[in-house]
Amino acid sequence: MKDLYNNLGISEEVVNFGNSVLNNLKERFDNLDEIAEYNQLKVLSAMQEHKVSAECFNGSSGYGYDDIGRDTLEAVYASVFKTEDALVRPQITCGTHALALALMSNLRPGDELLSPVGKPYDTLEEVIGIRPSNGSLAEYGITYSQVDLLPDGSFDFDGIRKAINNKTKLVTIQRSKGYATRPTLSVTRIGELIKFIKDIKPDVICMVDNCYGEFVEKIEPTEVGADMCVGSLIKNPGGGLAPIGGYIVGKKQCIENAAHRLTSPGLGKEVGASLGIMQSFYQGLFLSPTVTCGAVKGAIFAANVYEKLGFDCVPSANEERHDIIQAVSFYCPEGLIAFCEGIQAAAPVDSYVIPEPWDMPGYDSKVIMAAGAFVQGSSIELSADGPLREPYTAFFQGGLTWYHAKHGILCSLQKLVDANLVKVSDLC
Ligand SMILES: *Cc1c(COP(=O)(O)O)cnc(C)c1O
Repeated sequence: MKDLYNNLGISEEVVNFGNSVLNNLKERFDNLDEIAEYNQLKVLSAMQEHKVSAECFNGSSGYGYDDIGRDTLEAVYASVFKTEDALVRPQITCGTHALALALMSNLRPGDELLSPVGKPYDTLEEVIGIRPSNGSLAEYGITYSQVDLLPDGSFDFDGIRKAINNKTKLVTIQRSKGYATRPTLSVTRIGELIKFIKDIKPDVICMVDNCYGEFVEKIEPTEVGADMCVGSLIKNPGGGLAPIGGYIVGKKQCIENAAHRLTSPGLGKEVGASLGIMQSFYQGLFLSPTVTCGAVKGAIFAANVYEKLGFDCVPSANEERHDIIQAVSFYCPEGLIAFCEGIQAAAPVDSYVIPEPWDMPGYDSKVIMAAGAFVQGSSIELSADGPLREPYTAFFQGGLTWYHAKHGILCSLQKLVDANLVKVSDLC
């Protein structure tokens, strides 16, 4: 094993240090395996319940009427998430599209959207119109209000109560912290928030942005009162195999609204050819509990490695996990760059390229990104990125297998050692 690691550029000190960190994580990893086992059985049961058959993998073309693969997959998703209905389509191009679709189809002019958990994910700013954009909700006369979390990360219940008014139609709750510094919300906390909101206004639609959260816990937000959960298939639930797609699961009416917006009024879920993509959607969902578990192990391993070396980690080494994202702050550009170089060098694809910070549209500082993925941009695969500004934080996620995630972290550490940002003597 050490020879293999050596061939991959990892020194014995780094391997030994990694293994010493791992020794203390056995019990935690056992718990994660138990969650994966539970979710595996949940997915398997749903597939058996809906009689998934080889026929489901035959794609339709053209209008896609009576596409049994597509319709059965949606029934499977509805069972997994314990909802009345689901919309799972390759025509939903990404997570942002799925979220925009859920919002635009369930809101009408004059309605108000509320985020009670602070600023939503960057790309939603343009969807909502926080940053003016062509076709935003704001352009359609849909207003937005926001209540930030309190400084200690708890919900501002007084603020939320005041913000709910007779226009409030839909509440958006982002589960993962994304690229913010607030804590990720557990499903239990999401449930408490939804209950509080529904006690004030029972008919408000509660939507959860579930990106990066699927299968990290045994229950999903739709089991604690969410009317809709939304996510991307090139993150957790695609299991690394889905090459495109997004999903919305939830109440029948919410899904019908979304389907009529995705396709057309009058057509709804009836059209939308699946072409040849269904097998990857089924197989990816089937693998997702295991893949997600590996990614969570990688995140925990990263936090334990880097915290031990004195870097700031969010979540911290011992914190419970509710998504697959790990932030590590290096407080110098060289650290962030070395980390990302290591993640890139560990990839199965494009391992030989060196990532460089660049001026990305929409960002006010340079950004460095590392990914060598089978599916372009897939962030359930091993990947990292971060803006080149204080505190020089790398956001790390993914890994299709735990072993690959482990190798990625060792490789990143090796680059920090090679750049003299971590001393070999620190590794004891
Ligand atoms: C990734 C992500 C999105 C957007 O998904 P894309 O597929 O990148 O468009 C939205 N919200 C959160 C929390 C995410 O992590």
